[in-house]
Amino acid sequence: MLDIKIERTTQPKAKPEDESALGFGKIFSDHMFIMNYTEGKGWYDPRIVPFQRLSFSPAAMVFHYGQEMFEGMKAYKGADGKTYIFRPEMNARRANASNDRLCIPQIPEEDFIQAVKAVVKEDEDWIPTAEGTSLYIRPFVIATDEFLGVAPSKNYLFIIILSPSGAYYKDGLKPVGIWIEDEYVRAVKGGIGFAKTGGNYAASLAAQVKAHDDGYSQVLWLDGVERKYIEEVGAMNIFFIIDGTVVTPALNGSILPGVTRNSVLELCRSWGMPVEERRVSLDELLEAHKAGKLDEVFGTGTAAVISPVGKLRYINEVMQIGDGNIGKISQKIYDTVTGIQLAKLDDPFGWRVVVE
Ligand SMILES: *Cc1c(COP(=O)(O)O)cnc(C)c1O
Repeated sequence: MLDIKIERTTQPKAKPEDESALGFGKIFSDHMFIMNYTEGKGWYDPRIVPFQRLSFSPAAMVFHYGQEMFEGMKAYKGADGKTYIFRPEMNARRANASNDRLCIPQIPEEDFIQAVKAVVKEDEDWIPTAEGTSLYIRPFVIATDEFLGVAPSKNYLFIIILSPSGAYYKDGLKPVGIWIEDEYVRAVKGGIGFAKTGGNYAASLAAQVKAHDDGYSQVLWLDGVERKYIEEVGAMNIFFIIDGTVVTPALNGSILPGVTRNSVLELCRSWGMPVEERRVSLDELLEAHKAGKLDEVFGTGTAAVISPVGKLRYINEVMQIGDGNIGKISQKIYDTVTGIQLAKLDDPFGWRVVVE
């Protein structure tokens, strides 16, 4: 158990009045969690303090070599008025998988969860309540040694900030266009693709800019070696419903193991649907589409939960998926996951965790 000291703000900020204009990740709550690490001493001084700027040496290692990891979670006000988070043990475990890969010290899972709950509890009244809104939770670790040599840092900060965020879909679940990237790659086996870390995002920006310039909202990555197999979307995992079977690329080391991905797989299995985690080639998709068997395509991630895909572009081929509306199965998954999150439905899997 962490002994978390609390220093409350004396200048609480005005909360956003118009919850329809929140957007994503632009506003921050009154408090944040911080804990230090020093080699030989371990993690120490866990505290909740007013949200504030931090100061670092310009030589701090994170600025130069990118030794950092992050997580993404959400807190919600349930239909019963209680505050909930979703499967935090999955995020705590994944944080440590990222930490291991990046030579960042482990954070005990129970400490990670305790810290998330404590800071969410402190700023509980920052959780927006309009349909589709939530308090986005961003835990992260940065390397702070003042040193330009390339080596794992001996000092770190673990920080959690909170951002009230708007409904991902202002106009309902409208399918988006996806750009299948044919030039750049995101990750390769043996690299850092499975870790949630800034470097993967830095590597993704050039393709995202190209896709946006062409009117597509997200990039779908192919494998970095053969450029034949589907990996994932920029910040989401990808699912295909091919002739009634739920298909998603298997976790192969270069794909981020999403909590939402895992939840969707468990849900579909519990419904008795055929589910396959395996290699999915672009050729298979093109053929399934030609044969009229590519029923639905959707991305999964904490921010959007389910993001229906209406169009997939690869060089000169454009596959239209569905009729411009969200597919039946995509909608059912979205309704069930969000229903469980918001305590509108029973939680047979034990995914909902109350913050009290
Ligand atoms: C966070 C993330 C996801 C989605 O993971 P969730 O746990 O479902 O939010 C997918 N891909 C990448 C690259 C990510 O960073």
